[in-house]
Amino acid sequence: RTFERGYMRNEQIIVCVRKRPINERELANKETDVLSVPSADRLILHQPRAKVDTTKYIENYSFQFDFAFDEEVPNELIYKYTCVPLIHSAFQGGNATCFAYGQTGSGKTFIMTGGGRPGAVKMKGIFALAAYDIFGLLPSKEIAEHGLSVSCSYFEIYGVKVYDLMSSKKPELKMVEDSNQAVQLLGLTETPVHSVDDVLNLIAFGDNNRMMGQTAVNAISSRSHAVFQIKLIKADGTTVHGMCSFIDLAGNERGIDNAAADRSTRLESADINKSLLALKECIRGLVRQTPHLPFRDSKLTQILRDSFVGSKKNRTCMIAMLSPGHQSCEHTLNTLRYAEAVK
Ligand code: ADP
Ligand code: MG
Repeated sequence: RTFERGYMRNEQIIVCVRKRPINERELANKETDVLSVPSADRLILHQPRAKVDTTKYIENYSFQFDFAFDEEVPNELIYKYTCVPLIHSAFQGGNATCFAYGQTGSGKTFIMTGGGRPGAVKMKGIFALAAYDIFGLLPSKEIAEHGLSVSCSYFEIYGVKVYDLMSSKKPELKMVEDSNQAVQLLGLTETPVHSVDDVLNLIAFGDNNRMMGQTAVNAISSRSHAVFQIKLIKADGTTVHGMCSFIDLAGNERGIDNAAADRSTRLESADINKSLLALKECIRGLVRQTPHLPFRDSKLTQILRDSFVGSKKNRTCMIAMLSPGHQSCEHTLNTLRYAEAVK
């Protein structure tokens, strides 16, 4: 199976799907795997006839994307085909973004920050792989650009609030709109980094901050968007030459949770829904040159505004994460329809 064909197209927006392996919990639940990936760019959702009889399929949905990655494909390979072009566009002075989209438990954090069984070798995620690439390319690009330096920031967007993950008390950040209508985060920690290890340490610190105080029932991480940014700074020390933003999005099932018991959960769901819809429109606007993008509909799109408008050098990638079990069917179908609509 080769992904080269999709890679050669060199498009400004890349949309792909990634199926994670079925897990022990799903197997214990007697769930069946309803997803198959027959080729490098196609995925089929096999609809079970009934929840009880999952061996017979009546209706199959077939989807085509730039890439369809099955459960055998490691993070490194997905990174190669989806993110390497992003890194190059950042060096060329563009804003590159990569989103992990999908329901809670589908593997968003796994692909962004990495993971694996405790004790086993941890599979690197996109944040770390990007750091290796950037520091690998820096020496050659530096010559052309006269002294680029690198800095990182990591923050979390929860509703209309933004928290700095690079500061131990996770302070809320004030936002001001600049003359371009982009939102600036006042006091956001921008840490200069000089090596891959510097970046890995920062990610570990931020991840720890992100997870702090969370329990399974109160998993804020599934209700917030986490944004990790790597900026290439010009020799003057302040001007941004290009940047990469990697976003671990809030679980999309939250956005459709209309039956939620309490008012605050309903409001939260509505908010997540709104931000994911705005995001879809903004990404589409990247190539369609839509005059009025709804980036003001959410903090996420407001903060990332410069990644959607202004430059032909901007690039984006959406990785739609999929859980294979039949109990996830409805959410999976929602994820697939969203991903289809992005391009
Ligand atoms: P999300 O962030 O979307 O809620 P996670 O990334 O936390 O989901 O993934 C849920 C669980 O599944 C985690 O324990 C994670 O390690 C595991 N997992 C996800 N994707 C994969 C994969 N491709 N291979 C192996 N384990 C995975
Ligand atoms: Mg997660």
